[in-house]
Amino acid sequence: MRKEDFPILSKKIYGRQLVYLDNAATTQKPQAMLDAINFAYSDFNSNIHRGVHHLSQVATANHEQARRKVADFIGAKSAEEIIFTKGTTDSLNMLAFCFGETFISEGDEIIISSVEHHSNIVPWQMMCKRKKAVLKVIPLKNDLTLDLDKYVGLLSERTKLVSIADVSNVLGTESDLSFIIGQAHQRNIAVCVDAAQSVAHKKIDVGALDCDFLAFSAHKIYSPNGIGILYGKKYWLQQLTPYQGGGEMIEHVSFENTTYNILPYKFEAGTPNYIGSYAFAKTLEYLESVGLEQIFEHENSLSQYAEKKLENIEGVKIYAAGQEKKGVISFNVYNKGQLIHPYDIGMLLDKQGVAVRTGHHCAEPLTRLLGVSGTVRISLALYNDRNDIDIFIQGLKRAIAMLE
Ligand code: PLP
Repeated sequence: MRKEDFPILSKKIYGRQLVYLDNAATTQKPQAMLDAINFAYSDFNSNIHRGVHHLSQVATANHEQARRKVADFIGAKSAEEIIFTKGTTDSLNMLAFCFGETFISEGDEIIISSVEHHSNIVPWQMMCKRKKAVLKVIPLKNDLTLDLDKYVGLLSERTKLVSIADVSNVLGTESDLSFIIGQAHQRNIAVCVDAAQSVAHKKIDVGALDCDFLAFSAHKIYSPNGIGILYGKKYWLQQLTPYQGGGEMIEHVSFENTTYNILPYKFEAGTPNYIGSYAFAKTLEYLESVGLEQIFEHENSLSQYAEKKLENIEGVKIYAAGQEKKGVISFNVYNKGQLIHPYDIGMLLDKQGVAVRTGHHCAEPLTRLLGVSGTVRISLALYNDRNDIDIFIQGLKRAIAMLE
């Protein structure tokens, strides 16, 4: 589907056609995005918000239009609820800091889950250390789904926030967000959703989800690196203490005191990535022109195809086998009961032009729970097709034969 729109995909690696199956780490970029960056730098580059001159006004208008585009894309009520950040990690660090400073006291509790990426663990851990708060973790059941009975048991009068991945970057499985958010809200607890692995693979509607915060990185949805968003309900954002001080985020500054800007600027200190925001919005338009529903259907059917093919290879163990997955499949290969190191598989696939990821995928606690030091992970995007999967499967069989 639309491979021709992505220039890098025509590249050869070691003389073989590139098969790119590392999309959960980052996606490749369409010509529409590359053109948008070129256009932005050649047509209206100028620092935003402060200029009276023409270029600055055009750049400002484009940046604010991009904010509205992102707000519409995820169903936010208003553009004020969209804070531009550097990416998911930046968004989650920002939230952990701001929420911690504003609402957390000694003995308060934050809940995360066993499947989280380090980005949704470490910022909360750091904040809990600083504030003498407690980090609690929803355990997994044997089938690798979250134990939601235990989750309900973890919710207490001291729980202030739940932060949870929509889709696991290791297992590809979805969390039951409507249950998790519903239970938290019955107790007036805020919920943050890490949508880094879901935004490219399913419709995100923050209104329908009713989450209080949501974070994702643009580079995981075919858009530029170095930009992402933190969505927050106005009710919360208005109360939060800002994260960084500097230009843009202020109303007035004196040496004695500073008053802060209105939303969302209060959280956007310094020159924002206005080239990135423009290209991000243009990429979202491109994706809409391809058709989001078609993309999601294509990926779901490709994921089932890949899992079936993998299942048929002797010695392959798929994690969360048979469960619905959003673009990610993790597995390991065993030879006569002995684990073949995922790194060796990844290396041999690379030599055949197939890019996969191996290791703990920045989710060390989860891979430890799986009882391994890492997995091999394939992850899909709109431009992958059955031919890619067939080449990967042939390459994997060859790699296994060499390593046996
Ligand atoms: N959360 C999840 C679930 C992820 O998969 C990732 C990246 O892989 C991140 C957070 C961090 O994203 P970034 O490195 O773009 O900040």
